[in-house]
Amino acid sequence: MDTLADLYQEVVFDHYRHPRNFGRLEHADHTAAGHNPLCGDQVTVFINTEGGVVTDIRFEGQGCAIATASASLMTEAVKGRPVSEVEALFKRFHTLLTDRASNEDDEELGKLAALAGVREFPVRVKCATLAWHTLEHALHDNPEPAVTE
Ligand code: ZN
Repeated sequence: MDTLADLYQEVVFDHYRHPRNFGRLEHADHTAAGHNPLCGDQVTVFINTEGGVVTDIRFEGQGCAIATASASLMTEAVKGRPVSEVEALFKRFHTLLTDRASNEDDEELGKLAALAGVREFPVRVKCATLAWHTLEHALHDNPEPAVTE
């Protein structure tokens, strides 16, 4: 048994069953919708920023276990973080999911590393990155829905 893999699986299931920061954020400064046609995942991300920091973030939508857990983990990772760091964190996370040679133990990623197993299932990468693409649209006030393809 690979205990690290077990732990990661536990984190993903926990965030799928009990998503953190789930629901609408009333009077959000920025919001965007996203859609992953391959799997049918839908997400809406709401954020508030103040002084260049993400002060609050929530999401709602319907998705598979990976999409929901990833959105939940993202809200925890991003809340309280400077907007300027969000893009870099997404890049690191994307590398974790797509580059088998990348380091799963990257401390910067924290709990996001729980999704490292997705790299074994390339089609699920879009599930795991949907919330992040949607967050980018929200940060840039892009009125177009984020579509992973
Ligand atoms: Zn999915």
